[in-house]
Amino acid sequence: MKLTVNQDNCIGCGLCVATAEELFAMNDDGKSVLKVEDIPEEMEDLAKETIDSCPVSAIVEIDNADSGTESNTYVEEKKAA
Ligand code: SF4
Repeated sequence: MKLTVNQDNCIGCGLCVATAEELFAMNDDGKSVLKVEDIPEEMEDLAKETIDSCPVSAIVEIDNADSGTESNTYVEEKKAA
């Protein structure tokens, strides 16, 4: 599975990092970003937990078959670079 963090929605509460520091980190803007593009299978339950627990629903699962149309953290980072 793949996730993205909606940077406009993220309020930087840090809950996802506290829940799954293997998957998330805070960037210089105080927003959560993904550390891995593809969530390993053994971490999918943890990833789903972060989706459910984010207070502003900023963490979204990307449909692999349709990833080209989704807002994607990695794409946004590349644009900004
Ligand atoms: S839990 Fe949601 S709002 Fe909080 S830092 Fe993570 S993505 Fe942002």
